[in-house]
Amino acid sequence: MKKALITGYRGQDGAYLSRLLLEKGYEVYGADRAGDSGQWRLRELGIEGQVKEIALDLLETSNIIDALEKVKPDEIYNFAAQSFVLISFAQPVLTAEVNAVGVARLLEAMRKAAPKAKFFQASTAELFGSTGSAQKNETTDFHPRSPYAVSKLYAHWLTVNYRQAQGVYACNGILFNHESPLRGEEFVTRKITTSVARIKKGLQDKVTVGNLDAKRDWGYAKEYVDGMWRMLQQPTADDYILATGEVHSVREFIRTAFAAAGIRLEWKGKGLNEKGVDAKTGKVRLEISKEFYRPADVKELVGDASKARKVLGWKPKTKFGDLAAIMVDAELRRLEGRKVKL
Ligand code: GDP
Repeated sequence: MKKALITGYRGQDGAYLSRLLLEKGYEVYGADRAGDSGQWRLRELGIEGQVKEIALDLLETSNIIDALEKVKPDEIYNFAAQSFVLISFAQPVLTAEVNAVGVARLLEAMRKAAPKAKFFQASTAELFGSTGSAQKNETTDFHPRSPYAVSKLYAHWLTVNYRQAQGVYACNGILFNHESPLRGEEFVTRKITTSVARIKKGLQDKVTVGNLDAKRDWGYAKEYVDGMWRMLQQPTADDYILATGEVHSVREFIRTAFAAAGIRLEWKGKGLNEKGVDAKTGKVRLEISKEFYRPADVKELVGDASKARKVLGWKPKTKFGDLAAIMVDAELRRLEGRKVKL
């Protein structure tokens, strides 16, 4: 029986990956950090109690070594992070401690306590920054535009360096935005879909967001964790992009999500005064606030996952419109007390 250790296992990707590995017969250990939330994800996935918790905080080297010595994992997946771009502008040091130096602690502990283990680092499309609308691939230059992206850049290159200099089996999955009903509510897709369902049910009047014109490559997280697992099953370690290759704006996501709940949204006004209005009732359902704008945003991100397709046999299946509909349906089900499809 293979053993996997997952940091951030109560987050969206950690929870989906836990389920996938349990289904594959792995013994799954979740790195448990005091104060972590997200138990609801394991509960909704029906795997509560099946992941073995092990105390591990990326801020503390000694407990990482202890955990690795205890578990002796075959595979380590690192999802633990301060993962909100906007918060990283206000908390750059904490972001670096966890996302950058935390990975150095983990890789160094691994070299000492579990040198044969395979390592997956959750790297990010945010590394690319705003470098135009061309599809990004594994050879595209990085131009990070937030403290979050800068911290992840360090982790990315350190992972490459441990592979090249220390002979560690270490992979970066350069993950484009991947969403699901298990996404944190701070991210724009889940924020919108929870609001759409509440508006539909009359529990909320409107939702307030930031930059409508940012464009992203949005895939379904459930499919992305399969790509991550595949990276660690190869004879040699490498870095891979996971993306759909399709790009859509926040504005399109909003319209599609409202439409999935049967509400046709029209845009009125300009700039900070722009509003999303229910075409039938004339009610304002969406407003803009500066509060949700970033000091520097990434305009457009779209990825080319042909390397993952060729080498890993990985291909995203769920399309943009279906993803928005899946997320809205899940929120309606939650409000109605029905089981969510995950
Ligand atoms: P990210 O791409 O990892 O930063 O994922 P997010 O879902 O947080 O943000 C995606 C894009 O949506 C960014 O360009 C944001 O500026 C934009 N956006 C617009 N309004 C909002 C909002 O209210 N919340 C968030 N999180 N993002 C927003």
